[in-house]
Amino acid sequence: MTKPIWFDPSQCLIGGEWKTPEAGEYLPLVNPSDGSELCQIARGQQADIDTAVVAARSALDGGWGLMPAFERGRILSRLGQLVLDRVDDLARLEAMDVGKPLTQARADAIALARYCEFYGGAADKVMGETIPYLDGYTVYTLREPHGVTGHIVPWNYPMQIIGRSVGAALAMGNACVLKPAEEACLTALAFAHLAVEAGLPAGALNVVPGLGAEAGAALSGHTGVDHISFTGSVATGALVQQAAGKNVVPVTLELGGKSPQLVFEDADLEAALPFLVNAGIQNAGQTCSASSRILVQRGLYERVKEQMAEAYAQLTVGPALDDLRVGPLISDRQKAIVSVFLSKGADLAIAGQGQIVPEAPEAGAYVLPTLFADVPADHALAREEIFGPVQVLIPFETEEQALTIANSTDYGLVASIWTRDGARQMRLAKRLRSGQVFINNYGAGGGVELPFGGVGKSGHGREKGFEALYGFSQLKTVAALHG
Ligand code: NAD
Repeated sequence: MTKPIWFDPSQCLIGGEWKTPEAGEYLPLVNPSDGSELCQIARGQQADIDTAVVAARSALDGGWGLMPAFERGRILSRLGQLVLDRVDDLARLEAMDVGKPLTQARADAIALARYCEFYGGAADKVMGETIPYLDGYTVYTLREPHGVTGHIVPWNYPMQIIGRSVGAALAMGNACVLKPAEEACLTALAFAHLAVEAGLPAGALNVVPGLGAEAGAALSGHTGVDHISFTGSVATGALVQQAAGKNVVPVTLELGGKSPQLVFEDADLEAALPFLVNAGIQNAGQTCSASSRILVQRGLYERVKEQMAEAYAQLTVGPALDDLRVGPLISDRQKAIVSVFLSKGADLAIAGQGQIVPEAPEAGAYVLPTLFADVPADHALAREEIFGPVQVLIPFETEEQALTIANSTDYGLVASIWTRDGARQMRLAKRLRSGQVFINNYGAGGGVELPFGGVGKSGHGREKGFEALYGFSQLKTVAALHG
């Protein structure tokens, strides 16, 4: 087997070269399964971001900017194949770094390959249009890259988020500066190594790890950047938008969620149950689109409560490489945040839920998945994003009441409706305040092809699918008067 970290993780990729950070400072990367230090990563700062932005700009002015779309696509497709060839290595890296059980990490690596394939195939299929106009004119539109795009990525799904944002930006011909999260950036670096191997020209992708307040802030406020894609918390997203706003730079924000599943009395409960639970505990609940609220119509409520409690009782929690249902949280800090929420709802928790396996190291960031029942819709547990393996059950009586509760948080990322009533499916799909709505499923298996993004505090702009290609480009209108 390849060494788990087969490259030097302490470097930045800038202008096609692997470099040590300018200030010569480093940060420890911790394995959340046992609290050990995995390696040191670069603590990139303003000077490194400056050099990366300059390198991206010269790629645009050089070969990368002139490359035909089909050739960009070919490189991305080749990169997808290299990712597929290394799926197990990438999964292992992500498992060690994020604490994500191996099977889930593997699924993320496959999704990363799919993003490269999808955007590789789409690169030469984004077209403008001709517009009927006044006599004597021919008017058409061109889709052009923004230029230098900044990508600020969180720790929970590094591979998937890099795939959907960097993949689409490169397909459109932008040159990217990627700032991965300081808590987890090994797969970002591995991806960059594979991009070089795939033949991506120097400067088309630059990767500068570092702290949010240093490298992240330097990137989001940089005057040489033309577009920012940010995925992370609401508070940081607002800061990034402010910083980019000073330069009048457009921003895509993919923020948090409090996504509901609405279960009606006529639902197929057997089909729903695995989705109800899995959507809450996947990646230990550290998923922006986690379904943390389960709204159940009164007649089915006790059955759902009983069956979900049984499912929770089966859950095992332990080290990522043991590949159990639930791994550790990303850090002790995240564990402390989740623990505060757990104590807020102590009287509503259903007892006897799963187990942390005895071999889980003491120093790992483990918490027990917790299901809360009969939670009032205005309780903090039902309104705030917890980002841990925690779900709340909320009973409702009528469709109107379910809708009011579902739409009552600041967020609107994903929602699902479980009912056999087709008219109700259509009514609710329209009225739910949410970027995605699923009917009789949740998440549709991740869907590289499916546009994704939020309303309200879940953010704005859309990534994934063909739609992302519009987000990573801008429209130019050309009007020719020829008589
Ligand atoms: P975070 O906002 O703390 O960090 C995200 C990224 O922003 C990291 O790379 C970090 O270094 C950087 N950052 C931090 N401070 C910065 C600053 N001042 N300027 C610029 N960049 C800065 O979020 P997190 O704790 O890493 O992630 C958890 C949050 O992300 C959750 O709220 C979750 O819902 C959200 N999230 C959303 C999506 C989505 O697609 N909607 C996906 C994953 C995570």
